[in-house]
Amino acid sequence: MTKMDMYWTGLLLPQISTLITAGAIALTPGAATAQAVPPPFGPANPFYAPSTLPFHAPDFNKIRDDDYQPAIEAGIAQNLEEIRAIADNPEAPTFENTFVAMEKSGRLIDRVMEVFNGVTQANTNPALQKVQETEAPKLAALQDAVFLNPKLFQRVSKVYEQRHSLHLDAESLRLVEHDYQQFVLAGAKLSDPDKATLKKLNEEEANLTVAFISKLLAATKNAAYVTGDKSALAGLSDAELAAAADAAKERNVKGWSLPLQNTTQQPDLQSLTNRDTRHAIFQNSWERAERGGDNDTRATIARLAQLRAQKAKLLGFPNFAAWTLMDQMARNPEAALKFMDALVPAATAKANGEAKDIQALIDAQNGGFTLEPWDWNFYAEQVRKAKYDLDEAQTKPYFELNNVLHNGVFYAAQMLYGITFKQRTDIPVYNADMQVYEVIDADGKPLALWYCDYFKRDNKNGGAWMDTFVGQSKLLGTLPVIYNVANFAKPVAGEPALISFSDVTTMFHEFGHGLHGMFANTQYPSLSGTAVPRDYVEFPSQFNEHWASYPAVFEHYAKHYKTGEPMPAELAAKIKKAETFNQGYLLTELLAAAELDMQWHTLAPDAPLQNPDAFEAAALSNTHLALSAVPPRYRSSYFMHIWGNGYAAGYYAYLWCEMLDDDAFQWFEDNGGLTRANGDRFRQMILSRGNTEDLAKAYAAWLGREPDTGPMLKARGLQPAAPAK
Ligand SMILES: [Zn+2]
Repeated sequence: MTKMDMYWTGLLLPQISTLITAGAIALTPGAATAQAVPPPFGPANPFYAPSTLPFHAPDFNKIRDDDYQPAIEAGIAQNLEEIRAIADNPEAPTFENTFVAMEKSGRLIDRVMEVFNGVTQANTNPALQKVQETEAPKLAALQDAVFLNPKLFQRVSKVYEQRHSLHLDAESLRLVEHDYQQFVLAGAKLSDPDKATLKKLNEEEANLTVAFISKLLAATKNAAYVTGDKSALAGLSDAELAAAADAAKERNVKGWSLPLQNTTQQPDLQSLTNRDTRHAIFQNSWERAERGGDNDTRATIARLAQLRAQKAKLLGFPNFAAWTLMDQMARNPEAALKFMDALVPAATAKANGEAKDIQALIDAQNGGFTLEPWDWNFYAEQVRKAKYDLDEAQTKPYFELNNVLHNGVFYAAQMLYGITFKQRTDIPVYNADMQVYEVIDADGKPLALWYCDYFKRDNKNGGAWMDTFVGQSKLLGTLPVIYNVANFAKPVAGEPALISFSDVTTMFHEFGHGLHGMFANTQYPSLSGTAVPRDYVEFPSQFNEHWASYPAVFEHYAKHYKTGEPMPAELAAKIKKAETFNQGYLLTELLAAAELDMQWHTLAPDAPLQNPDAFEAAALSNTHLALSAVPPRYRSSYFMHIWGNGYAAGYYAYLWCEMLDDDAFQWFEDNGGLTRANGDRFRQMILSRGNTEDLAKAYAAWLGREPDTGPMLKARGLQPAAPAK
């Protein structure tokens, strides 16, 4: 089967939003009519056959922009034909002629899309964007052609029903159950009239999603703070003031403008000394999408929530979250809610303590007012400076990018897993800033190819991510070809790239996803590597972050780029200590957003349209997260993740994965830390398994018990609310 889901669920939001944008364009009538006729597809096209380079690496020396479209079109046509042949096979359905056949199909479309996704995310141009717009609806239709094909589903069901008498190995059995579930979740079991209703609801949902995205974009833009009075901006640096003046010019307004970020809190609130200004900016942010008129999102989200509940009912689930979580590690909303509820007392207790400290500071400065959300970061920043005083200019000389890569990221992986890295300058790249390494296994055998593309460019999406050019599969005989992308500032020619500790952590994070891909050791491509649920996929990456500050690793790489001197212990201690700063606030605002998401998506199908403000207030109050000075990280009316970005009933996944990674790291610490034995066991039981088994069981088997929130709270510097058992 084609790994279509891979294209639609990136590992990081920038990817998802790109694809959502592509989807939005797909809904514009006539978007596909203006396309040029693509050149014919034949042996001259570099995607025609698998690459002959080592690891089937994409041959970027040969691939041209106009090679993609004909290859994608041919790939779609070929895959549709393959699917038709499987569905129409006159022989009785078997595991081999149905499931294995699906796994083997889609080679061409996968080959081209994996490369196309890579370059459109990280090295795009108008020609590639045009291809993306044209092909997005066709790729979506290909997915429907698979999952809503009644003949194909009949065969899938037949094998599924017989699965326990077929003597399948565990991974094959998993494939049958996984695929069957994907068909059912997509609506394959519905009657024809119900399928038609589902299609209508899906269309309405897509339209409302697009409407939400464009309303929110305009609302956020319009809610920028504008002032002609420079004194209102006291506290901003000269550079920040200059940027504010530029932003005003761009908007054709006089004076200064501070555009809004997508979160409730705004970064400038930490430095603005004028309380009225802070209040005004906060109010702009909080009410951005609730001002009446065209860009008010409340009616849109009320209908979206209702519609999703109706969709769930049609598919046989009590609510939308129950449908979405069916194939996730948490399995059902109750488990996710229980997990979050357990964190609330510790988070809010700590946040209330932090609020008390801040109120004391306000009183000590004779403020004469009660702490409000718009004051929090302003005073928290004063606390941070006094307590931690961490200056990036002091730490950056100890974090030279290539040194961090070799003596930090690679070193930790070598200590844990015995793998080594050999630079390959002979493998073609799409941009000269990239580096390529062959990853060699402990037994000397080639394991994977790994690329990094670390520097910011104008034609690259924001953020950082990992993805694959070639996925691992024993069935297809492929080894993984993996890449990491980031947006670090590029140094001027000849100068070293000195990065922040946050960037260092990003390198470890993305490399953690990389290891999940590189160690993949599975038969079937659709169960391989990072093709795992959303509430599991960030676990290996966040787990790998821990090694960045692990003493034996940190000391190995944190050395001054000129002198080679290790970082002074005092400075290193500050980095470590700063990790627990303001965590009561941060965890509470995340929990509040995650609870809002889950409350909206556990709405009953027969519930009337909700009033979003009343619903939100009740949801926060019912979950004990209505703290006057700690608003949710996103308010319902501007919660892009859940209404526009594919994270509906999924925002909890960030916290869930944090529980998994902190608990896993605690296990390492309890068992000797950075050792080959620990690494090999983790690789064998977790990193190599992809989605080939029940992940909750796999995790518990590796850990020796169910995951627990204790280590997560400890890592954030919080105390569990209940006494230890
Ligand atoms: Zn990640």
